[in-house]
Amino acid sequence: MYSKTATMKSTNNYWDNEKIRYSLKTVKKILNDADAIVIGAGAGLSTSAGFTYAGKRFEENFSDFIEKYGFRDMYSAGFYPYETLEEYWAYWSRYIFINRYQDAPKNVYSDLYRLVRDKDYFVLTTNVDHCFQKAGFDKQRLFYTQGDYGLWQCSKPCHDQTYDNESVVKKMVAEQKNMRIPSELIPYCPVCGAPMTMNLRADHTFVEDSGWHTAAKRYQDFIHRHKRSKILYLELGVGGNTPGIIKYPFWQMTAENPNAFYVCINKGEAYVPEEISERAVCINGDIGEAFSYFRFPLYSTT
Ligand SMILES: [Zn+2]
Repeated sequence: MYSKTATMKSTNNYWDNEKIRYSLKTVKKILNDADAIVIGAGAGLSTSAGFTYAGKRFEENFSDFIEKYGFRDMYSAGFYPYETLEEYWAYWSRYIFINRYQDAPKNVYSDLYRLVRDKDYFVLTTNVDHCFQKAGFDKQRLFYTQGDYGLWQCSKPCHDQTYDNESVVKKMVAEQKNMRIPSELIPYCPVCGAPMTMNLRADHTFVEDSGWHTAAKRYQDFIHRHKRSKILYLELGVGGNTPGIIKYPFWQMTAENPNAFYVCINKGEAYVPEEISERAVCINGDIGEAFSYFRFPLYSTT
C-alpha cells in the first residue's frame, strides 16, 4: 500500500500542492466528525474503480462486434438496433456479465466502505452495476434509482416486477457462437409473452418494482431523520446528465441545514455554488486516489 502511494506521488502532480493538501485534510476531518453521511454516486465512481466503457476493456471483450459495426464504446453499442434478439442478447449478456457479475478492477468501492462503515450512512446512486453491494454495503442503506444490470423486466411493461438474470446471462455468455445466443435462451415475459428487457431507466417503460419503492422510502426516512444533523453530503463522480437526482438536491439540503457539509470529488468536474461554498470542499482528482489519501496520507493531514 505504501508503494501505491509512492507511485501516485511520482506520477500525479494534482495532489502535490498546498491547497489540495488542505482540502484533503478538511475532508478527512469532516468525515470523522459527521454524525451521518449520504453518499451520492454517479458513473465517475465506477470509472475510478476501473469499469471503463471504451478502450482496452471494450476491445478485449467485444472485438467481433467492433469489427462488424465499428462501435466506439460499450455503452452506445448497447443501444444499436440489432436485427435479431439472438444477436442483441449475445451483446448484452457479455455486457452484463463483465459489468455486473465480475468484480471491479480496483478496490475503490471497498475503500469507500471502510471510510463510512462505522457511520450512519446511506447511498443514493444512479449506478446500475451493483458495486456497492459487492463491496459490503448494507442493502438496506442503498437506493439504486436507475435500475440494475442484474434485473430484467417486461418490455411493454405489462406488470411491475423485475427478474434476476444471473443464471440465464451466464448461460448466454457460455453458449453464444458467432455473436448469437441459442434461440431457446431468449427471455420472454412470463405474464404476456413479450420479450424481456433490461431494468434500466432509459424511458417511461422503466419498472419501479417493490424493492425500488422500499429503497426510495428508506432514503426519504434517512434524509428526514437527519434534517438537522451534522451530516455530510458526499458526492462522488456525478456527471452533468442528471443533476436533478443527486447534485441539486445535495446542494439544496446543504443550504437548508447549517450543520451540513457538502464534499464533491469528481475528476475535472467538481464545483459548488457560492451559497454553500463555506461549508463545501471540491476535489477535482481521481476518487480512488483521494480515498487512499484519506487512509494513508503522504502528508500530515491529521
Ligand atoms: Zn409482460
